[in-house]
Amino acid sequence: MIEDTKIVYICSIHEKEKDYHIMSPCRALCRHCKKKKVNGYENPDHVSNPFGYLYLFPSLCDPCAETLQKCKWCVYEKK
Ligand SMILES: [Zn+2]
Ligand SMILES: [Zn+2]
Repeated sequence: MIEDTKIVYICSIHEKEKDYHIMSPCRALCRHCKKKKVNGYENPDHVSNPFGYLYLFPSLCDPCAETLQKCKWCVYEKK
């Protein structure tokens, strides 16, 4: 079962992303913990392409976004 997790931290630039739905859970690596826990989200700007559906991936998984208190949709650079 796919649950939309509640988003604790999201910046004003990325506010609209909180309405996106998870389409493919745990598809990408989190840039912080390097675990494959980042969910793929629906892409509202999706157009047909030879590679199939393009998902949107945040930089951070939800637990890291919460721990770091950062917006997971912002570009995250590990120091
Ligand atoms: Zn993480
Ligand atoms: Zn952001």
